[in-house]
Amino acid sequence: MREHGPVSQPAPSGGDPGRPDGRPKEACGVFGIYAPGLPVAHLTFDGLYALQHRGQESAGMAVSDGDMITVVKDMGLVTNVFEDRTLAPLKGHLAIGHTRYSTTGSSTWRNAQPVYRGSGESGFALGHNGNLTNTWELAEEAGMLPGVVASDSDLVAEFISAAFLPAGQERSDGRDLEEALTQVLPALEGAFSFVLMDASHLIGVRDPNGFRPLCLGKAETGWVLASETTALDVIGAHFVREVEPGEMIVIDATGWRSVRPFPAERVNPTLCIFELVYFARPDSRLYGKEVHGARRRMGELLAQQAPVVADMVMGVPDSGVPAAEGYARQSGIPYGQGLVKNRYIGRTFIAPSQEMRTQGVRRKLNPLRDNITGKRLVVVDDSVVRGTTTKAMVRMLREAGAREVHLRVALPPIKWPCFYGIDIGTRAELLAANMSMSEINDLLGVDSVAYLNLDNLVRAIDAPGAGFCSACLTGEYPTEVPARFTRDVLDGGSTQPNPDDAKLFTDTGV
Ligand code: SF4
Repeated sequence: MREHGPVSQPAPSGGDPGRPDGRPKEACGVFGIYAPGLPVAHLTFDGLYALQHRGQESAGMAVSDGDMITVVKDMGLVTNVFEDRTLAPLKGHLAIGHTRYSTTGSSTWRNAQPVYRGSGESGFALGHNGNLTNTWELAEEAGMLPGVVASDSDLVAEFISAAFLPAGQERSDGRDLEEALTQVLPALEGAFSFVLMDASHLIGVRDPNGFRPLCLGKAETGWVLASETTALDVIGAHFVREVEPGEMIVIDATGWRSVRPFPAERVNPTLCIFELVYFARPDSRLYGKEVHGARRRMGELLAQQAPVVADMVMGVPDSGVPAAEGYARQSGIPYGQGLVKNRYIGRTFIAPSQEMRTQGVRRKLNPLRDNITGKRLVVVDDSVVRGTTTKAMVRMLREAGAREVHLRVALPPIKWPCFYGIDIGTRAELLAANMSMSEINDLLGVDSVAYLNLDNLVRAIDAPGAGFCSACLTGEYPTEVPARFTRDVLDGGSTQPNPDDAKLFTDTGV
């Protein structure tokens, strides 16, 4: 095994680099491919590039030629980490890839993924999307000392490694990684979509709730796993089906097999509803529905639920635009562009103070004055979390001459923290958890404000029988969350990472 990358890189300091614009942040994209004869490293690069929106802190891949696994990972965007020179030597038939946004463990090279462990003949590599909720308990039960592991993903890798059969006693069918996983997985709680590989197997796992998406695709000579269907599209693979909650897909030279490592009673599909509202790309498909269509219907139902007399409907770029189109279509009010987004702004700035976050909005968005001046605007956004961004944007629109600003949000108010890997902040930070509707109206400086209700949100998604997690909207968590976790965050403490976890992990730079 070879690992490439700087030995370490300092964690960002001074504030919350994860939420510079006050919007919720995802927690990683995963990709895997088993395709003899195809340039798997280049295809993994393309797949990760299509998943870049899910995490921009670090990127990495592990490639196997059947004998040796090579891991390359570094801080930065996929295009910063990989170029032709880096990809050319990565020969093989099997690869996994990862783009990271950290919610547990710090933003350092050590936490970039895939995680590698040298167990068995050639070791294995792991990429993780999600957040375990019982990390501390697991570490405690295992008698692990603080600092032994760097993140919940690292802890899982440690457990899998420990579950491998001793050297010399390996299975004759080579299914050692699969066997180790069937022992370890039932103990894990929370959100996890994993891609794993040893030298000759690719494995995908989705937790029994299926909080994070994972799909299976068919490539020309093999099989692909990806967080979103768009990653299949870009490499010319065909969608086969979603990996089901509680399912493990094992891919090798014989094709793919489905394994069920969790007890049936634990399987309770609750896909994160934020995937459809905000995280997933509009051209991805979830529960068989294209995300863009669901977002447009959210806008249509919002127009029915909260109509207003106005001259123009505009969306907050980019993710508020489909709902704005829907609102305009349903209401008959013309759709127009009111804000231009700087497409080149990434996660390059850190906003340690409220004032700087406000300034960050100006860097990102600029009003189209001729379209706005003198108009009564319906401004459609996909979510309001802390309100900082929205308040600055409303002020910007008024300064540009808007006569009225009516805010319509294509999501119910966010009132509860997330324990499953989405960085939306603590109760204390969440606007709707602490203010009445009229207080929110006044704080944001709008003429009116309305949020889509949960019934309409589910109607808009239009996936009958599909289960969703909406805990951050309702406070009803689909799994038992350890009291230690809830105590810290519900009282207004720090959600991400959990303070106890911070003591557990080696690098605690966040
Ligand atoms: S709590 Fe909210 S953000 Fe977290 S998984 Fe559930 S729906 Fe998604």
